[in-house]
Amino acid sequence: MKRLISRSNQAIAFGSILMALVCVESALAQSSESFHQQMIVVDGHNDVIYASLLEGRDLGKKLPVGHTDIPRLRAGGVDVQVFAVWSDDKKFGKGKAFKHANHQIDLLEQTASRYPDQLVIAKNSASIREIVKQGKIAAIIGVEGGNMIEESIENLESLYDRGARYLTLTWNYNLSWATAAAEEVKTKSEKGKGLTEKGRAIIRKMNELGMMIDLSHSGEKTFYDVMALSTKPVLVSHSNAYSLMPQYRNLKDDQLEALKKNGGVVGVNFYSGFLDPAYESRVKSIYRKHFGDKGNYKLSSSSQYDKLPASLKRKADAPLSLLLDHIDYLVIKVGVDHVAVGSDFDGIESSPQGLEDVSKFPVLTAALLERGYTKEDVSKIMGLNFLRILEQNEQQ
Ligand SMILES: [Zn+2]
Repeated sequence: MKRLISRSNQAIAFGSILMALVCVESALAQSSESFHQQMIVVDGHNDVIYASLLEGRDLGKKLPVGHTDIPRLRAGGVDVQVFAVWSDDKKFGKGKAFKHANHQIDLLEQTASRYPDQLVIAKNSASIREIVKQGKIAAIIGVEGGNMIEESIENLESLYDRGARYLTLTWNYNLSWATAAAEEVKTKSEKGKGLTEKGRAIIRKMNELGMMIDLSHSGEKTFYDVMALSTKPVLVSHSNAYSLMPQYRNLKDDQLEALKKNGGVVGVNFYSGFLDPAYESRVKSIYRKHFGDKGNYKLSSSSQYDKLPASLKRKADAPLSLLLDHIDYLVIKVGVDHVAVGSDFDGIESSPQGLEDVSKFPVLTAALLERGYTKEDVSKIMGLNFLRILEQNEQQ
């Protein structure tokens, strides 16, 4: 009898330890969640305008598709969201991009006026802080592609006046005044690469306006030409470390060194294909298992990939630890004051496990704390670094 009692006492003791552990864990999760909700979270790149607003969807409602809407931004504790305006000359034809960009800004403005208690377009860092203090989401406009100014400084100024606070110089093809990473890598010679005199005038004007220069998608020569010229810290809004994932538009170590000297910021991109060297082969093998070997699979033509059931697609996602590895690497190379977040949600087909959409940002905060980052460092990465360079660009 005595033995039985002591055994049951042992069981009770063991149970209490387990309970205590569970409590500690849930308290940690709670404190990380409440910390996440308290700090200013900034996502420097999201493509929902193109993915959903242009499709006529209402961002005020929780959407069954895509990565982003206001309810999910709220759940994810996102305080400041950069909405990318994007237009492709190859798809829509030359001479249409400026109008297309303005139409997209119209749509964002309409959303903001439909949900004034939720989302407000911000044009400077002081108003961002005010909007966030009121418990609303501050929306910033980022124009992703210099094609949208159609070689005109007046158009650049006009987009700035409407609220554009960064211009990604190029997307994936060359412009008359700046060359893109996707094209620069095709030839070894330096001839015809980088900024032209017109390109230099655009950079000077952006510095003067206080509009951030975004070098994601830019070729290396363009990157270094800007570094030699810009008087202000630059942004690389959604790019990762080339050493961990040798994709042409990730940043090489020398570029990271130059970025550190410039005082700029790199926002880590969530796309599995820019994080994980094994992503493409994983997708191929899932695709073949499901559809059989059709022999014509290409990751870049995602129409067949899109036909995969959602549960299978998620199996191809990069592990969350790889996103953390990129952040660690960037922090080692450029310092914790120069790393930020540029998810690229709604512009990517696959994001890391656990980060399925914008509502999951607290998962990243928890993972950073678990990696050993201090709360101060996490707040810098999750938002303050981006806001700092925006402020530095605003200063004359
Ligand atoms: Zn992009």
